[in-house]
Amino acid sequence: MTIAVLGGAGYIGSHTVAQLVKAGEDVIVLDNLITGHRQAVASKARFYQGDIRDYQFLSQVFTQEKVTGIIHFAAFSIVPESMQDPLKYFDNNTGGMITLLEAMKQFGIDKIVFSSTAATYGEPQQVPIHEDDPQIPTNPYGESKLAMEKIIKWADQAYGIHFVALRYFNVAGAMPDGTIGEDHHPETHLIPIILQAAAGTRDNLQIFGDDYPTKDGTNVRDYVHVVDLADAHILAMQYLQAGNPSDAFNLGSATGFSNLEILHAARQVTGEAIPAKIGPRRPGDPSTLIAASDKARKVLGWQPHFDDVEAVIKTAWNWHRSHPEGYGDR
Ligand code: UDP
Repeated sequence: MTIAVLGGAGYIGSHTVAQLVKAGEDVIVLDNLITGHRQAVASKARFYQGDIRDYQFLSQVFTQEKVTGIIHFAAFSIVPESMQDPLKYFDNNTGGMITLLEAMKQFGIDKIVFSSTAATYGEPQQVPIHEDDPQIPTNPYGESKLAMEKIIKWADQAYGIHFVALRYFNVAGAMPDGTIGEDHHPETHLIPIILQAAAGTRDNLQIFGDDYPTKDGTNVRDYVHVVDLADAHILAMQYLQAGNPSDAFNLGSATGFSNLEILHAARQVTGEAIPAKIGPRRPGDPSTLIAASDKARKVLGWQPHFDDVEAVIKTAWNWHRSHPEGYGDR
């Protein structure tokens, strides 16, 4: 049984590949390396460079390898970029899913676990957000992922391709042994940006908006450690392998932290002053996103190990200090 990890050279993908390899699974990685890093891929995983929108590429790999299940991360995921260039997101995320499903159908691969997002919910009517709450995205990134969820539901019905959609909230942290971590160019995510400011490699840290209807006026997000998130994918694949029906699960901690609270926690962890200014709101940002994640715990048996945000930031800081330039390949 071979598991194909699409986007396995990216941030969450590479942590999932590492956990799969540790669990003794046979893993192949497909990645176009547009945002991923070859060095991030565990050496035991066989690597194929190519794009999921390229049917020929998928067909070659699936002819060569006996793939029984797919874990799919290969997507763009930056909210502000999606506001500026929505077609880029619909092309790669939604279009890529269509090509992939076509290849899965052709090669009889009937199990897929894929990255969805809290951004499919948009501005929630209530928190914590449950899986069956309305999905009304406020940005094209969320819309491109919601379209993926909708397409795959019909593909399941028509072709019997079973899926688990994992709706991530905010992911942070790095492998605790410091071997792999987060390296985006440009970096847009709050925690790595704060850590760059702590390390002195960034001098213009802004908190985007302090006039939201939240405890301190800044956005509230729900943070999950990347290794806990990786483990949820392995459980989701086991859930499908056991013959369970397609479903969607939130992955979050059920606790919300405001952007200012994250800044404070990062000051505690790093011991640095980390100067920051309040800037204007960032277009497309919902004010509060907190997950109800009891379903993943109950149905998949998911048990996150990192349950406080300082422990999450500590692993990210450990990676950042040992790799100030990330993988150094950009
Ligand atoms: N954020 C910020 N300053 C930054 C980057 C992000 O204030 O330099 C805020 C952003 O507006 C949001 C939160 O941090 O409220 C989390 O944003 P991120 O991009 O990390 O993840 P998202 O919630 O968009 O998936």
